[in-house]
Amino acid sequence: TTLSRQFSLSAAAMAPISKETDYLVLGGGSGGLASARMAASKFGAKAMIIENKRLGGTCVNVGCVPKKVTFYAAMLAEQIHDAKSYGFSLEQTAPFDWPTFKTKRDAFIQRLNGIYERNLKNDHVEYVHGWARLLSRNEVEVTLDDGTKETVRAKKILVAVGGNPTVFPDIPGADLGTDSDGFFDIATLPKKVALVGAGYIAVEFAGMFNALGVETHLFIRHDTFLRNFDPMVQDAITAEYERLGVHLHKGSSQSKVEKDGNGKLSLHFKDKKNGEGVLKDIDHLIWAIGRTPATRGIGLEEAGVKLTEKGYIEVDEYQNSSVDNIYALGDVTGPVELTPVAIAAGRKLAHRLFGPEEFKNAKLDYNNVPSVVFSHPEVGSIGLTEPQAIEKYGKENLKIYNTSFPAMYYAMMEQDQKGPTKYKLVCAGPEEKVVGLHILGLGSAEMLQGFGVAMKMGATKADFDSCVAIHPTSAEELVTLK
Ligand code: NDP
Repeated sequence: TTLSRQFSLSAAAMAPISKETDYLVLGGGSGGLASARMAASKFGAKAMIIENKRLGGTCVNVGCVPKKVTFYAAMLAEQIHDAKSYGFSLEQTAPFDWPTFKTKRDAFIQRLNGIYERNLKNDHVEYVHGWARLLSRNEVEVTLDDGTKETVRAKKILVAVGGNPTVFPDIPGADLGTDSDGFFDIATLPKKVALVGAGYIAVEFAGMFNALGVETHLFIRHDTFLRNFDPMVQDAITAEYERLGVHLHKGSSQSKVEKDGNGKLSLHFKDKKNGEGVLKDIDHLIWAIGRTPATRGIGLEEAGVKLTEKGYIEVDEYQNSSVDNIYALGDVTGPVELTPVAIAAGRKLAHRLFGPEEFKNAKLDYNNVPSVVFSHPEVGSIGLTEPQAIEKYGKENLKIYNTSFPAMYYAMMEQDQKGPTKYKLVCAGPEEKVVGLHILGLGSAEMLQGFGVAMKMGATKADFDSCVAIHPTSAEELVTLK
């Protein structure tokens, strides 16, 4: 580390400049880590990351990774149940051992934290545990864990600080509930949970709890959830959750939360079916009503960095903020809040800022980003929903292909045990370019990536049809659509 010990001109009263770097990254989550490592390892930039929690950000610590492990546990619960239909006589003699599972899951995440730290070391990225605050377009004050402050001068600054679960709604007792961060602290298998929200998080959590045998109540404001997805997906997954036994409270709102003498919660609500009601004996109430960019207290105002109306950092397509030398990406900028999007944007930016001339226009293409929800069953989507495509191309210029069938996995099961599989292709123009692909059914998450490649390459319906089917799979239905 450089210890130049000179004083900052713009902030003489601040701590002396104690370090200098080429690339200072605020936030050690997916986007920041990827960008700093690429800048340092590939282009030899001197890079530094400031993070005040654990390395890996939301995805590794309180998001995708521990969620996916929990999803696998839920999947196994379902398979143990399904196994009877295949002739197995599996009886669960004890309930799911959540504490053991949680201990192992926590240890796995801790191992990942260590791996992330070692990766930074291997790539010669300096990692500082502390809180960073912008002082100007190339100075950042870092408050270390022991309270001491240093000022770092940087040629380029990246803000990749992510987001947090949206604050609780303004009703009495709301904070007796928790949020998606709190989900990962739950220590024992609950008996009854209530979730409020209709996005990825609420739907994934509700599906996992239900599969693990927990009485699950999901409160949504409208008649369906995942309302940003194609109507086919919304309708089918909402109906499937009801079939699976999730207690759906449609058209609902909440007015009060109380705690009883046994530490259980009561939720006062209104819904379309029951009118006013109180749900009692809730072990955990989880608010999953969106996420908020983490823009507070990091000096964005002082540095003059503009925010959008919704509070995200305003960036152009090259991740430039409104201030020279300051860039932003990932969840703090909003457009597509997904880990791989932040990683891809971070790597492109490192190429553009520190790479050779040929990368001077490097930027991420935010179109056709595949995304899946680990619901029950999984759903996946790439490109435009049918309504979006109608708006863009006009109904007369579209051809929509739909199919619906029971996956062969269900062949050994009774009719009422069979889950749905539904696929839709949205094709535009005379060449029938595939502009939207929407799938719901077992294995959708693993299926989607390859179709993402095809759509990135501009595949048409004829291209899909020209690929020989793999039999017997569900995926083959996408290349044999009529
Ligand atoms: P989302 O923004 O996806 O969904 C939140 C939804 O909750 C809203 O769309 C809204 O739906 C509903 N809502 C908002 N306010 C209220 C309220 N007061 N009462 C009831 N419902 C309300 O947020 P999430 O928190 O689920 O996820 C955040 C982001 O994280 C996602 O956008 C996604 O990009 C990412 N993520 C990705 C995952 C994956 O890739 N598998 C998994 C988890 C998260 P409505 O208008 O219908 O009421």
